[in-house]
Amino acid sequence: MTKNEELTSLKKKMEEDMSLPLRSGATQLVFGEGNPDARVYFLGEGPGYHEDKLGRPFVGMAGKLLDQTLKEIGLERKNVYISNVVRFRPPENRDPEPQEIAAFQPYVDEEIRIINPEIIVTLGRFSMGKFLLNVKISAVHGKPFFVEFLGKEMLVIPMYHPAAALRRGEVLKDFKEDFKIIIKALNGEIKSSKKRETPQLELF
Ligand code: URA
Repeated sequence: MTKNEELTSLKKKMEEDMSLPLRSGATQLVFGEGNPDARVYFLGEGPGYHEDKLGRPFVGMAGKLLDQTLKEIGLERKNVYISNVVRFRPPENRDPEPQEIAAFQPYVDEEIRIINPEIIVTLGRFSMGKFLLNVKISAVHGKPFFVEFLGKEMLVIPMYHPAAALRRGEVLKDFKEDFKIIIKALNGEIKSSKKRETPQLELF
């Protein structure tokens, strides 16, 4: 199966999975979209009003800011992959609950396995929580973390959510600055300490 076929089949599985929460209040499932061979996978929180109506992730104001910030670092939306931790719009855009995030988790993991990105950029604290425990976004945004995920070492970069950047000028400044690290990561300028270690010769 090609990656596109695998993604189509995963989407169908989600559409048919009646155990998934949040379905009843939503118009439709909002699956991930973008380049299936993307080197960068963006993970947001969940669909909002516009995403729910159009069935596409990050198409409202927060999405416009995401697209624009990608452009500013020389990337195009169509070359990355963009998705969310929950795939049905929570009522009144409330925060997703832990058990809701947990219910979607196997599908998110499977999507990441299919895309097989080099870099995962989390947008906001809910997607950050999938990879990094007991950290505050204000302390770690824009910093690279090497995380063991699906049996391999993955570079995870937590970022502020673009909706938070739209609400506060200081967050917007950090959000834009933080995106520059994505280019460094794509250029191989960020190495894990494991990879940096030079093997020690055992003489005795
Ligand atoms: N906010 C998100 O977290 N995801 C979207 O798709 C849109 C807004």
